Amino acid sequence: MFNNLSDKLDKALHVLKGHGSITEVNVAETLKEVRRALLDADVNFKIAKEFTNKVKEKALGQNVLTTLQPGQLMVKIVKDELTELMGGDAEGINLSGNPSVILMSGLQGSGKTTFSGKLANYLKNKKTKKPLLVACDVYRPAAIDQLHVVGEQIGVEVFSDRGNNDPVAISKAGIAHAKANGHNVVIIDTAGRLAVDEAMMTEISNIHKAIEPQETLFVVDSMTGQDAVNTAKAFNDILNFDGVILTKLDGDTRGGAAISIKSVVNKPIKFIGTGEKMEAIDVFYPSRMADRILGMGDVVSLVERAQEQYDEEEARKLQKKIAKNQFGFDDFLKQIQQIKKMGNMKDLIGMIPGAGKMMKDVDIDDDAFKGIEAIIHSMTPTERSNPGLMNASRKKRIAKGSGTSVQEVNQLLKQFTQMSKMMKMMQGGGGKRMMQMMKN
Ligand code: GDP
Repeated sequence: MFNNLSDKLDKALHVLKGHGSITEVNVAETLKEVRRALLDADVNFKIAKEFTNKVKEKALGQNVLTTLQPGQLMVKIVKDELTELMGGDAEGINLSGNPSVILMSGLQGSGKTTFSGKLANYLKNKKTKKPLLVACDVYRPAAIDQLHVVGEQIGVEVFSDRGNNDPVAISKAGIAHAKANGHNVVIIDTAGRLAVDEAMMTEISNIHKAIEPQETLFVVDSMTGQDAVNTAKAFNDILNFDGVILTKLDGDTRGGAAISIKSVVNKPIKFIGTGEKMEAIDVFYPSRMADRILGMGDVVSLVERAQEQYDEEEARKLQKKIAKNQFGFDDFLKQIQQIKKMGNMKDLIGMIPGAGKMMKDVDIDDDAFKGIEAIIHSMTPTERSNPGLMNASRKKRIAKGSGTSVQEVNQLLKQFTQMSKMMKMMQGGGGKRMMQMMKN
């Protein structure tokens, strides 16, 4: 996420981070570099200029040069300004109605349907919410199918009316259906066009007026940079929406949209989409995002993601197995699947302070576990639960079956043994023993 921008800001702030003495001259020089980095990330010229002016003003106001650690203070000022620019505090969505109606708007391809599913799944997992998805794209039958596929995937009901070509009527019928069937949230997915046009604007505005949603969200593809900001402006003029959803932040986005959108439409970014999977949704926290942009990682989000995937029941079962020495490859596979659910690997590594920068040139893809999974899938159930059975001929067969080499199979077995040992020690309160092992 935002690698290029992070790199450039890191270089710009290098001097201030304690690699040389700080003078008025290099503060000015640094700010020029910061502005250039923002412009390269596709941040609007005016916003970039205002940003550096504000940082300069604050630095002068706080007499940065006379403080004990001027570099750190400057970095803090940049961070605070970046946070402010992206929206200050995180803002949730309004779920006050019964049902609370959420209207999705945005261009075709921005990720509306995908996000509708992600939001429904996110709310469903909160246990107190029973969402209903409503398909209001009357022009593309495939869009209705897509929403049904998404609904099935996450176990959320989808309301559609294929013969009907009046989106206002469909959304009203959807809300009535929700009321009659105990759904307390209705998410309305609407039709988008490839570009802003009058017909689309009239249609979404009609739906908006007719159903008076508690929350109107504007979904935008962050890869579109400055265009994202212009589209947001056009939709906001018509809908006066409540919040922005920034999708595809997992891609090679330059970051301009995330940084500029709030100050152009004065509406908060509420969620971000970081992948095609239903779990790839995050609440947008401006300050955490600023940390990530400045290469400081985001441990809080990393821990939260881990917690979301944590299943107490499973954890207890696992503990028992470890204690009884029954931890097998099937359990290992389950652990891998849980890690994968946390998000794409590069993204996760980027949340560890310092690691993102260190690993930025390392090619890590989501297939990182593919070899391991293939090897485990090629084992028989008996082998999976009794790794001790493994001999040369079994290894050869497994390597052949998984399209890997005996060497790779051996490597996995070694890792597995080490991991099992470590888990057993941690369980037995064997901190001391582990320290001993590390010393040896
Ligand atoms: P809609 O036309 O606005 O409903 O857009 P869709 O939901 O159909 O999304 C368009 C494409 O973008 C699909 O291929 C999605 O899988 C993809 N997509 C949506 N959100 C994300 C995201 O956060 N990250 C990535 N990488 N792809 C996404």
